[in-house]
Amino acid sequence: MKYIYFFGAGKAEGDGKMKDVLGGKGAGLAEMTRVHLPVPAGFTITTECCDYYLKHGHKYPTELRGQVAKYLAQLEKVTGKKLGDANDPLLVSVRSGSARSMPGMMETILNLGLNDRSVEGLAKNTKNPRFAWDAYRRFVQMYSSVVIGLPKEDLEAKLRALKARLKIKDDTAVPAEGWRELVGEYKSYFKDKTGKDFPDHPTEQLWGAIGAVFESWMAEKAVTYRRVEHITGLLGTAVNVVQMVFGNLGEDSGTGVCFTRDPSTGEKTFYGDFLINAQGEDVVAGIRTPLHLDKLAKMMPKVYKQLELARQLLEKHYRDMQDMEFTVEQGKLYMLQTRNGKRTPTATFRIAVDMVNEGLITREEALERLTSEDIERLFYPVIDPSVARGDLGKRKLAEGINAVPGAAVGKVVFSAHEAEDWASRGEKVILVRKETSPEDVGGMAVAQGILTATGGKTSHAAVVARGWGKCCIVGCEKLDIDYATKKMSSNGHVVREGEWITLDGNDGSVFQGQVQLTTPEMPKSYHIMMKWADQIRRLGVRANADTAQDARKAREMGAEGIGLCRTEHMFFKDFERPEKSAERQLAIQEMIIADTSEARRKALAKLRPFQKRDFIGIFEAMNGFPVTIRLIDPPLHEFVPHDPEQQKELADKIGVNPQIVARRVEQLHESNPMLGHRGCRLCITYPEILEMQVGAIIDAAIECQKKGIKVFPEIMHPLTMDRKELQILADATHRITKEIISEANVKLEYMVGTMIELPRAALLADQMAEVAEFFSFGTNDLTQTTMGLSRDDAGRFLFDYLDEKRAAIFASDPFQTLDQAGVGLLIDWAITRGRSTRPKLKVGICGEHGGDSQSVKFCHREGMNYVSASPFRVPISRLAAAQAVIEEKRKGSPKKKAKKV
Ligand code: PEP
Ligand code: MG
Repeated sequence: MKYIYFFGAGKAEGDGKMKDVLGGKGAGLAEMTRVHLPVPAGFTITTECCDYYLKHGHKYPTELRGQVAKYLAQLEKVTGKKLGDANDPLLVSVRSGSARSMPGMMETILNLGLNDRSVEGLAKNTKNPRFAWDAYRRFVQMYSSVVIGLPKEDLEAKLRALKARLKIKDDTAVPAEGWRELVGEYKSYFKDKTGKDFPDHPTEQLWGAIGAVFESWMAEKAVTYRRVEHITGLLGTAVNVVQMVFGNLGEDSGTGVCFTRDPSTGEKTFYGDFLINAQGEDVVAGIRTPLHLDKLAKMMPKVYKQLELARQLLEKHYRDMQDMEFTVEQGKLYMLQTRNGKRTPTATFRIAVDMVNEGLITREEALERLTSEDIERLFYPVIDPSVARGDLGKRKLAEGINAVPGAAVGKVVFSAHEAEDWASRGEKVILVRKETSPEDVGGMAVAQGILTATGGKTSHAAVVARGWGKCCIVGCEKLDIDYATKKMSSNGHVVREGEWITLDGNDGSVFQGQVQLTTPEMPKSYHIMMKWADQIRRLGVRANADTAQDARKAREMGAEGIGLCRTEHMFFKDFERPEKSAERQLAIQEMIIADTSEARRKALAKLRPFQKRDFIGIFEAMNGFPVTIRLIDPPLHEFVPHDPEQQKELADKIGVNPQIVARRVEQLHESNPMLGHRGCRLCITYPEILEMQVGAIIDAAIECQKKGIKVFPEIMHPLTMDRKELQILADATHRITKEIISEANVKLEYMVGTMIELPRAALLADQMAEVAEFFSFGTNDLTQTTMGLSRDDAGRFLFDYLDEKRAAIFASDPFQTLDQAGVGLLIDWAITRGRSTRPKLKVGICGEHGGDSQSVKFCHREGMNYVSASPFRVPISRLAAAQAVIEEKRKGSPKKKAKKV
């Protein structure tokens, strides 16, 4: 099997489409070589090899040795140099690179091939012993920590001690002798710790590095990153062995990162950072604050021009915004990497719309590239414009580089570990670091925002945070951070761990205390893209909304109706008139405590006007769109007090003996309330509840209709499991409705249907559909009852089922992304069977899955009519529904066709 692909001297065996096998970096290097950009020569060991290595007890395939030897010889031929040569040595970098970008998560080793002999050759050839010995000590340092796992801090402490001895502040001032001394110290430290000599032979070094890169795929930080980013299904990392070029050979050398468009705003300008006389890692690590690319145009005009050409060529070639790494070695430009650049949410939409307008991509491609996270991130908050500028001025602590916009408020913590700890206790934190490294990714993920004292817009902190759309400020150099005493100071203020700060990622300001935040206006390009999505999709998108306020929000978000209104939520609180909340609660409690039908009716009569008012508000907001209202579905015990004092208080209020309340609460206790007296079973036992709710719905609908509002009520019975059960409920619903309609002497369109939340209902869907005019899959309960997992506490152990390093039974949480294999099969069956007895059966979904991209696409393929999601996820569902059509076009027609009704 071929495990290695070569590139160099204008030819490449692989190409840009081979990301899965060569990783993003390897595919980019091959493609850049093919289009004749200046790329150093090298070869890529495939992700398939990594997969083999990890699956075979960390052993390489037998043919790999021969292939490495062959390609190394070819690299030596192309470069005209030999690895480890005493006169003019070839040096290589060994870098990771998987199919999906995981910035800084896996390992890199630079300057490989140096030993006591070849370092002399390098010194002679570059006429720069200082550089040669610096390169050597960097290699020994990296190899010791990355390949062998010796503590980085110990190695860095030795470097600091050397500089202290030499009374030098900057690394750049350390002379050749100093570096030589440090190499010696590192080597004896290596021997002390490992009992072995530092590997001298370049091929031994190379194999050590290859193994370390493969191992880094399963390192804790990489596994965490994949979990946080929902990256699954990859084979592993590739290994890129590439000829070294040096950006630290003097003032005519440098290294940098640039983007073909501004990754913050999306504007079509050439954007980037660079450092003169530095090695690549210095930019990403954020240790030195880099210069803006504009300066390069002045300092190295020829190189800048070449880079500008590469920018145009690569963006056109890849038809997407590129993030490119480059190095200038003594005035000569080398391209080291190109990949699709991470960008802020605003930039994502702007770039997509611009590229469609420029004719670079089609609308469909633009839509396909969007993800649900891109939309979610648009809703991130900003500082409320009503906050007085003067007040902000007084609170200002410092200003840094605005790496990722948005705003964040949280308590300061100074380590990723603490960030995770505090966040697990429900605290909102801001992670403050001098700089971040890949080890910090877990803490970065849970933080509200990230603040670093050093680094530019392409530093690790900035790149990772941008990918998440998380507010991030870097290069805040005025900030004096003291990890030991857990405090930072700036501008005369001191902030200790646990104190609040606010970040404004739009302009890079840091404020003391909690500043009021608000959600920003959506960019124009967002509305343009959502319109494109609506033009393509066939699946309807509704919202789950229980109040008029939610319903209005849902319309704003583009919902075409309500797919689930949970009426019991109205009992807890009066959203329009909060002062009435207590009165409502009392009425529902009185209804529950009642032990005769008469007493219950009396309590229900008090509730009816409240419910009617709620429905009027919802119908008004949804003028012209259908509203599915589900009748009561709560475990009743949640509504009554459990401690004796509160029980007495309630008894006094409703005028009964406290013992009656206590007895009723006792009766209501269920050992498994999720499978207890809930859902439609309540209305089977207490039909007067159904009467009140249906009455309130129809009263409200008629009243609205009289005002000229178009109403389409759909009354829905939850948790049904049997045809007869549903028939009783549907008959009662029709009877009450018809009575009210005929009394009012009006015409009203309405429907009666059911949720499908139990496997029995799904299995007997043909019978259920004889009664129900519509089905709405309640996949929260359907998942719970099909899998036998409690939706309330499965989270405690589901981690084991999901984690790559543990059982890895499911790729995603079945309560978030529909279990298509199991629950999906029941849905498929239920739709087919349901439509066999009622061909026009209207079908939707209203569980949480209605707002999850993968699940929405499944619903489309299953031929549902609509999905229903919480208001803020409505745009995500609109996009997913459009993407489902685009996918369908590519893959061919589905067996069932989704259609809005
Ligand atoms: C469901 O079970 O999927 C559903 C929407 O109902 P609830 O979440 O209210 O149980
Ligand atoms: Mg349910």
